[in-house]
Amino acid sequence: MIQITMPLGFLGTVYREIRQALVDMGEMFGLLNQPAEITDKAEAPTLAVKGGAIRFEDVKFGYDASRPILKGVSFEVPAGRTLALVGPSGSGKSTIGRLLFRFYDVREGAVKIDGQDLRDITQHSLHQAIGVVPQDTVLFNDTVLYNIAYGRAGASREEIEAAAKAAKIHDFIISLPEGYETKVGERGLKLSGGEKQRVGIARTILKNPPILLLDEATSALDTQTERDIQDSLREMGQGRTVISIAHRLSTIADADEILVLDAGQIVERGRHDELLAKGGRYAAMWARQASDMQTGA
Ligand code: ATP
Repeated sequence: MIQITMPLGFLGTVYREIRQALVDMGEMFGLLNQPAEITDKAEAPTLAVKGGAIRFEDVKFGYDASRPILKGVSFEVPAGRTLALVGPSGSGKSTIGRLLFRFYDVREGAVKIDGQDLRDITQHSLHQAIGVVPQDTVLFNDTVLYNIAYGRAGASREEIEAAAKAAKIHDFIISLPEGYETKVGERGLKLSGGEKQRVGIARTILKNPPILLLDEATSALDTQTERDIQDSLREMGQGRTVISIAHRLSTIADADEILVLDAGQIVERGRHDELLAKGGRYAAMWARQASDMQTGA
């Protein structure tokens, strides 16, 4: 990704925030280029967040007109609640994330936050309201301090350390020879996957967005580290509206609603126990994953 290696800051905060969004989303969704044609309306207002309720209203979308991807998706995540998206590869989970970020406009229907259509507000204010925690956090070749501070331009040292403490990475950082000044990234200290993710969580805690978009780990290993990360993500989700793209069903049992997607349609919806009792698609996915875990597949 060329953008990551470019020097930061020279175009100011707006550019930096857009770039952060692109880096996070790029990492999350494999987007290398920002799609063209998404522009703000003349004199568009900023998003007025009242709690961060998200609504998809009969959304139809395809990357090209000849191939529909989402075929009429409707759901609502009330402010402060958690929605989990599950379904086979290619079913449209990440596409929902991209539309929430308005990387593309819907072809029919609408996406709204607190009643405001995403097409009517500025993209900058939208991106400020959403924190993205990808599976694999991108680190810049800079200090760990810089890497966390990236969450919010102008944050104080105290705020950065408070975010690191909340993400349970502070003690690790101060154990490094140069503490917060330690260089990380490809040309610096290589952090483990879990440490990188904690830096990403600290970055997002510092940003303090009302809405979180989480892309959960695909790995089937149920290690202590992963459980700890899950706990941190859950803690960070408190009081925020969360959409979680889940690959492992064990991590979403406490979501307020689970949507099961297949080929761009919602084929089941409900809470974990309701869906298990129903004995349908979700229950079958659950049974399959449980047996995979047992056989170590
Ligand atoms: P996974 O679990 O594998 O990440 P997903 O459910 O997140 O899958 P999406 O990434 O939303 O699936 O993809 C849905 C469909 O859209 C797929 O058929 C995919 O090939 C297609 N698609 C995704 N991105 C693009 C793109 N940029 N251009 C064209 N088609 C795309």
